[in-house]
Amino acid sequence: MNIKDHIGSIPGFPKEGIIFRDVTPILECPEAFEEVTKQLSQFARDVQADVIIGPEARGFFFGIPVANELKLPFVPVRKPGKLPRKTISETYELEYGTDTLCMHADSLKPENRVVIIDDLLATGGTVEAIVKLVEKQQAKVAGIGFVIELDDLKGKSKFEGIPVCSLVHFE
Ligand code: 5GP
Repeated sequence: MNIKDHIGSIPGFPKEGIIFRDVTPILECPEAFEEVTKQLSQFARDVQADVIIGPEARGFFFGIPVANELKLPFVPVRKPGKLPRKTISETYELEYGTDTLCMHADSLKPENRVVIIDDLLATGGTVEAIVKLVEKQQAKVAGIGFVIELDDLKGKSKFEGIPVCSLVHFE
């Protein structure tokens, strides 16, 4: 099973000059989805995760099956105005402008070992904001798992000292 065979490359989406790496073919192939879940679950097990956390929407695709596989809680990270209880938030820089991510303020305990799961590591800005949300709650980021890492953007350098697992690499 080669996971890379189940990732689409879409030139010009969402805008000119970008090659979008599409993970939906993984979801459409149960064997590929099972393999991704297995590998990310093994990583989370190895770093002794006790909570899995992931951002909407593509982080949910992979984070929730991993949490279910390991019988661990899943904590959703969402855009503002989506989560019903009291939230904490973190604003981060995009190429043009800023974005904000939120999580429930009571979702983590200080002793938690959290594994963050997302579909793709580009600049690392998204997951860096999630690391800050976890640390605001005095929990520890035990590891970060991605399906895809875009190596040339060197996003991994934002996570010195944290184990990072990427299943597939593109330049
Ligand atoms: P970063 O914050 O690391 O620069 O960007 C990563 C975030 O943007 C991830 O949450 C990911 O879902 C999204 N993203 C950026 N580029 C792509 C892409 O080519 N394919 C997919 N599937 N997601 C992307």
